[in-house]
Amino acid sequence: MTTNPYRLSQSVWPVRYFVHLTPNLESATFDGDLMVELDVRSATNTIAFNAIELELGEVTITDANGASHTATPVMNEEFETATVTLASELPVGSATLKVAFKGILNDKLHGFYRSTYVDQDGVTQTIATTQFESTDARRAFPCWDEPIFKAEYNVTLTVPSHLSAYSNSPELSNTDHGNGTKTLVFGPTMKMSTYLVAFVVGPFEESETVDVDGVPLRIIFPKGKGHLSPFAIEVGAFALRWFSNYFNIPYPGDKLDMIAIPDFAFGAMENLGLVTYRETALLVDPATASQVEVERVTEVICHEIAHMWFGDLVTMEWWEGIWLNEAFATFMANACTDAFRPEWRYWVGFGTFRDMALQIDGLHSTRPIEYEVVSPSESQGMFDLLTYEKGGSVLRMLQQFLGEDTFRDGIRRYLKKHAYANTVTTDLWDALEEASGQPVREIMNTWILQGGHPQITLENGFLTQAPFAYGAARGESNIGKNWLVPVQVRSLDTGTVTNYLVGADPVPVEGTSLVVNAGGSGVYRTRYGKDELAAVAPSIAKLEELERVIIVADAWAGLFSSNIALDDFVAIAKSIGDDDNPATWTTIASALEWVNRAATDEQRDKVRAIVKEIFQPQLDRIGFDPRDGEDDLVPQVRAIAISMLGTIGNSEQVQAEAQRRFDSNSLDGDTARAFLRTVASMNRPGDYDEFVRRYESAGSPQEEQRYLMSLAEFPTEAQALETARRCFDEFRGQDGPMLLGLLGGSRTNGPAVWRYMTSRMNDVQEKFAPNLHVRLFGGVTTYVNDPKFAEEVEAFHTANPVAVSQRTLEQALEKMHVGANFAETVRTQL
Ligand SMILES: [Zn+2]
Repeated sequence: MTTNPYRLSQSVWPVRYFVHLTPNLESATFDGDLMVELDVRSATNTIAFNAIELELGEVTITDANGASHTATPVMNEEFETATVTLASELPVGSATLKVAFKGILNDKLHGFYRSTYVDQDGVTQTIATTQFESTDARRAFPCWDEPIFKAEYNVTLTVPSHLSAYSNSPELSNTDHGNGTKTLVFGPTMKMSTYLVAFVVGPFEESETVDVDGVPLRIIFPKGKGHLSPFAIEVGAFALRWFSNYFNIPYPGDKLDMIAIPDFAFGAMENLGLVTYRETALLVDPATASQVEVERVTEVICHEIAHMWFGDLVTMEWWEGIWLNEAFATFMANACTDAFRPEWRYWVGFGTFRDMALQIDGLHSTRPIEYEVVSPSESQGMFDLLTYEKGGSVLRMLQQFLGEDTFRDGIRRYLKKHAYANTVTTDLWDALEEASGQPVREIMNTWILQGGHPQITLENGFLTQAPFAYGAARGESNIGKNWLVPVQVRSLDTGTVTNYLVGADPVPVEGTSLVVNAGGSGVYRTRYGKDELAAVAPSIAKLEELERVIIVADAWAGLFSSNIALDDFVAIAKSIGDDDNPATWTTIASALEWVNRAATDEQRDKVRAIVKEIFQPQLDRIGFDPRDGEDDLVPQVRAIAISMLGTIGNSEQVQAEAQRRFDSNSLDGDTARAFLRTVASMNRPGDYDEFVRRYESAGSPQEEQRYLMSLAEFPTEAQALETARRCFDEFRGQDGPMLLGLLGGSRTNGPAVWRYMTSRMNDVQEKFAPNLHVRLFGGVTTYVNDPKFAEEVEAFHTANPVAVSQRTLEQALEKMHVGANFAETVRTQL
């Protein structure tokens, strides 16, 4: 028995749900009928289940003896439950519960929600769709809305005849009533958790069905977007086969539909058999999209399909396990993407994402990857970089330490043992321990149960560790003290890689020219002693790609924490040489953006010169246009160089080229965003309106996003405020928060935009999904030149916490202070 008031009694379990919903898209309401077969495990006269924003009728329960009980449910809004108390006890055994109910199709992008959008023909369309994770199934039908209560679902939908409707299972029957409505009955699902149930109603079209070793796979999309679906089919088919083979278990659903939703708060959601996606994460034309956009679609599809096993088939027992669900899917998505297109070197690119997580994790306001969750809403704060990217990185480190085959065997063992059931994190460590004979639980506890990460130092023949932090703690620190660190070291003389497990005590190492974090999978910062650095430095350009990425990232961490000087960072950036991998350049560009934000107006020419010194040779080397036979990743390097030179670098050459391409509307997918940033920053008369026009008539979701997000680059305060207003009043709810975040991050207009957003707090609540609120306000924390403003921002957000992600916002606020220190130091070095 549990004492957590948010958890339901386990005396009664749902076994099989029959839910019939009739949405009314005009009035934004729905009617529902529910019958649930129950297993009464201990005799009781009270039954509690979850329901919120539902109007329930009388509940009828038929017990194992055939006796019928009726009662009026009592709602509890705080715990989001409905409780029925019966006159007599229900005996142990099976029972059925019946209830009719009414609900609302909300516009908050959660539960069963309604969304309207203007299609490509200018017609307003309405859809009704679901997003249940973590605990919003209870807004659509009464249910035992905890992951542990796995059950079978039988969904029936009555919808307008001209619309399509989908759910987790194949359609069993479709009856038109001749009155403008039809009823679709969907088959039973496998035994699974409520948060994976889904249904979608709207004017959709479908691709051809592809048979993937017996699994029917389709892409479903808003009308007229079918030409953007073949790539998703290709990736989906690949991932289905790859995971079936990796896990050695067939796909657990009966079919797989992947559907693009025009307004979606997350990237995607792994509903079994009916995966929902934001349009940009599913629909893409590889011929016109950028490499980054194509990679993103691939990675998201692989991520969601990995969840069909890890998450859907085997599910966390309670919400603190959500990190493992997401960390594992992130890790597996990288592995699958890497297998799909080895030439993309996806694990190297992942180095950039990992570093984004470590940039948070080096703050005292970081958190342990896993923490105790009492109210399910606490787990909402887990959907962040620390869960996905740090969690995924820690799993990658473990995989490299155990060996790829041993790791896979442990995963197979875990999935087989717990199929159709629930687990806690340590179940996975136990399975990996059985497969490997290594102390997995002991190692992983140091990474999962405390925040932060170490810095490993190689000095005087020893490896030692110390906690890494960007600065001194202003209050309590969540950074841990000691980790069990798998450290791989390669000798540049012999090429031999040696594994060490570094704990609290110094570990002696052999050899002289040594690369720490060989292969680059270790989740830590590295510091070399003077002699050790001198032995490695001349070879930076010859290291493996990911090792180079890490050296640059560690140098940036050193600069941001004011531990190394700007000149030293620039020297390392220049020593990279002609690197075709964008991951290194991404970090260098991001660092120089911060330097630019820190610089005074008088220092701006100096920053310009640094940008030109580093990026002009790369642009000269690779040119504005793709060349025959060039590396797949070079287009991203090109885009970074154009973007840096065209904006901060103020390069006349790049600006002229950007104008020419924009005016002749001859932008190429890979460099489009970089040229658009450049054009927007130049602010020629009429361009702003032209950007909006092209956004409105864009031919793909990616093109739409490019124009929309580039609006943030227009320089005047009036333009920034006008764009901010449109985010609230005109653009889609899924996009507004992202663009507001970019506007808030503007070096010059950030504070004005932030003040505008805080003046519309009611609209923030009304218009944007709670999990996106942090996106709006996070951007301004890159404004580092006015400590007084930093205090104003912090005071406001302490008094007015954002929904769901206050912890993420606190991290951004701490980073704002670190940034202010960095800015002060770097200004003395320019
Ligand atoms: Zn996920």
